[in-house]
Amino acid sequence: MAEVLVLVDHVDGQVKKVTLELLTAARRIGEPAAVVVGEPTDELKAKLGEYGAEKIYTAPAELDDYVVAPKAELLAKLANDKSAAAVLVSATPENKEIAGRTAVKLGSGVLTDVVDINSELVAEHSIFGGSIITHAKVTKGVPVVAVRPNAIPAEPSAGAAAVEAVEIELSDAAKAARITDRVKQEKGARPELTEAAIVVSGGRGVGEDFSVVENLADALGAAVGASRAAVDAGWYPHAFQVGQTGKTVSPNLYIALGISGAIQHRAGMQTSKTIVAVNKDPEAPILEISDFAVIGDLHKVAPQLTEEINKRK
Ligand SMILES: Cc1cc2nc3c(=O)[nH]c(=O)nc-3n(C[C@H](O)[C@H](O)[C@H](O)COP(=O)(O)OP(=O)(O)OC[C@H]3O[C@@H](n4cnc5c(N)ncnc54)[C@H](O)[C@@H]3O)c2cc1C
Repeated sequence: MAEVLVLVDHVDGQVKKVTLELLTAARRIGEPAAVVVGEPTDELKAKLGEYGAEKIYTAPAELDDYVVAPKAELLAKLANDKSAAAVLVSATPENKEIAGRTAVKLGSGVLTDVVDINSELVAEHSIFGGSIITHAKVTKGVPVVAVRPNAIPAEPSAGAAAVEAVEIELSDAAKAARITDRVKQEKGARPELTEAAIVVSGGRGVGEDFSVVENLADALGAAVGASRAAVDAGWYPHAFQVGQTGKTVSPNLYIALGISGAIQHRAGMQTSKTIVAVNKDPEAPILEISDFAVIGDLHKVAPQLTEEINKRK
């Protein structure tokens, strides 16, 4: 069975959930082979094996000293050397650039923002804010596919996780842009928005003070999200915007406080397993996709909910 290369997203020795989703998708196509830049920890290797990686290719950490080009050279080299069936990456802005460059090197095609892929390498896209589903397939060369986080549920299935070090001579062009400094983003105690099991989001109905959203999120151990209206008003940072031009989330529980449910917002959260809306307008479009709704003032409802949850802890 041909190998399917999966570029591993990892931070502080921990694999990101999206990589486990990609390994799950890769198993449908062929033999999953994880590609790690830098020395993987034992924990990382074990996790990759747990989700089906038959091979783990490790490349020198030096590749991370540069912007995207070396990773594209690495993936293209491995795809050629191993006659891979496909290359899968997560659809982050950086990885989409890597995907494009890899496809150029392979003389193949790239598909980005894919939400599903089958054994025949037919990829699914959700477009126009989720109102239309399209299918596409790369018709030439080794397909390079960037899959959205939270689109494919990760399912464990043991793989051999045999580690093989890859030697690579980077071209001068790949080393043209070097990273000179890295500043670690301050991380609060809340979970990462795209990985959280529960997301509490606030919209224009919340107003300037987002503490009502944060308090409920903290009571539930949830991440905080925001609509574009709230972000554009400067009430919450852009990094927390959910929607077509923000993050895509697919938590078990999504609570929308004072969000009308515009199609561009829905595009980023409609695959959530359970959706709860608090809105004072019984006609708000968010109610069409909500499993539960409270029609009322969120400034009254959310604090009561927070208090009740805290009481029951
Ligand atoms: C190209 C493009 C891309 C976009 N991308 C995104 C995107 O990524 N994400 C996104 O969110 N939007 C996006 N938008 C904007 C989108 O169209 C909407 O304008 C936006 O989502 C509206 O945000 P909102 O629901 O917070 O505000 P509104 O639509 O103003 O809704 C506010 C809601 O709060 C309710 N409300 C008010 N006060 C209370 C209260 N006290 N208690 C309870 N409920 C209350 C109201 O009934 C209303 O339903 C995009 C638009 C375009 C054109």
